[in-house]
Amino acid sequence: MNRIGHGFDAHRLADGRSMILGGVRVPFERGPLAHSDGDVLAHAIADALLGAAALGDLGARFPDSDVQWKDANSLELLARCAEAVREAGFTLENVDATIVVDRPKLARFIERMRQNIAARLALPVDRVGVKAKSSEGMGYTGDGTGIAAYAVALVSG
Ligand code: MG
Repeated sequence: MNRIGHGFDAHRLADGRSMILGGVRVPFERGPLAHSDGDVLAHAIADALLGAAALGDLGARFPDSDVQWKDANSLELLARCAEAVREAGFTLENVDATIVVDRPKLARFIERMRQNIAARLALPVDRVGVKAKSSEGMGYTGDGTGIAAYAVALVSG
């Protein structure tokens, strides 16, 4: 039986932080403020996968109160979540995600993000969708306050 999961993540942007999305360091003067590396794309996909298997969420699994996860590589956390979903008896089918932010423009980094995520999920890259959307100046993703990502994941088993 197929099961679908949904994930969302958002982080505030701060001066002097690195912007890492799907494991790609995107050149920009600001980046997500977070306990981990703040990779909203990896976090949203991880929550979608965990959600598809009804295994809770990333924050419960890797609490930001735990120093072990300070500056954690979120692709590594994503890989662990995929492993947990497989251990629960599911096969990963595909994931699809959307990053929402007006700046920086992300088009030229998308393929590397897909490759990184596919590698960590042990999926072919054609089963990993990543898009970037602007919110046209509206709200926290439009005015530079923050960055958000949404994801869905399909698993079977
Ligand atoms: Mg997060």
